[in-house]
Amino acid sequence: MKNQYIKYAILKNAMPLEKFGVNELAWEKDAAKKLIALLIDSDIGILGGDVYKLRQSTLEPLCDNWACEPQNDETREEYFLRSKKKALDYIEHYPSNIVNTSIIHDEKIIFVLVFTEYFDQDIKERASSLDENWLLCPICMDGWECTSRDSIVICPKCNEILYNPRHQT
Ligand SMILES: [Zn+2]
Repeated sequence: MKNQYIKYAILKNAMPLEKFGVNELAWEKDAAKKLIALLIDSDIGILGGDVYKLRQSTLEPLCDNWACEPQNDETREEYFLRSKKKALDYIEHYPSNIVNTSIIHDEKIIFVLVFTEYFDQDIKERASSLDENWLLCPICMDGWECTSRDSIVICPKCNEILYNPRHQT
């Protein structure tokens, strides 16, 4: 998987925590599991992560975290794979009902993932909508057929990651 596609996969369903003063990306359980599954064969590992509770405009650290250190007897690839399995396992088994911390309907448990590589979270440009089926890339000025309503899209010609004008929040 090319770097830009990895970055796209990472940013696609990520929740930036910048507005809470935390310069990290977080995912809800299912999105985190999907992302790690997608990255399982890629050349990127997960150093560890933290768990937060998100409630409307407040972010509460739950003081739960995990870390995965490389071991002497394993290759880089083995370490990366083990780190992703460990993250999946941790997220899968993280209790959704925490003792003494009741989760009510507007609260979410989210997971911050720390990758072995840094991914710039800034997306600088927005694609333009040419018509119902086509988008235009402002970087290479090429159009492509795309009806996605995801928050971001990737230009198939120059691989730039762009905001999607069709996305509605
Ligand atoms: Zn382009």
